[in-house]
Amino acid sequence: MATQIRKEILMARKPFEKVKVAFEFETCKECPKVRSERTPQAGCADDYYCTEARDITTGKHRMVMGYVEYSSDENPIPEWCPRRV
Ligand code: SF4
Repeated sequence: MATQIRKEILMARKPFEKVKVAFEFETCKECPKVRSERTPQAGCADDYYCTEARDITTGKHRMVMGYVEYSSDENPIPEWCPRRV
């Protein structure tokens, strides 16, 4: 019975609207546009790259933080961040 009611509610629901949402971050680590990978030849440190910006010389995603092992290694959001408002 409960399953039937849930199905009816879902079918009666209108499609979701697209909504633009703004977030506030302290570092790129919290941004959904960041990607991370292990720092080469490092034990447990990570490098972080912005997937919204490209390095002019290499064409690869631009690094926002390198060799991050602890939160004290993190950098603030760069001035060139394409998501800044
Ligand atoms: S630079 Fe801006 S868009 Fe890129 S990862 Fe950092 S906060 Fe996100």
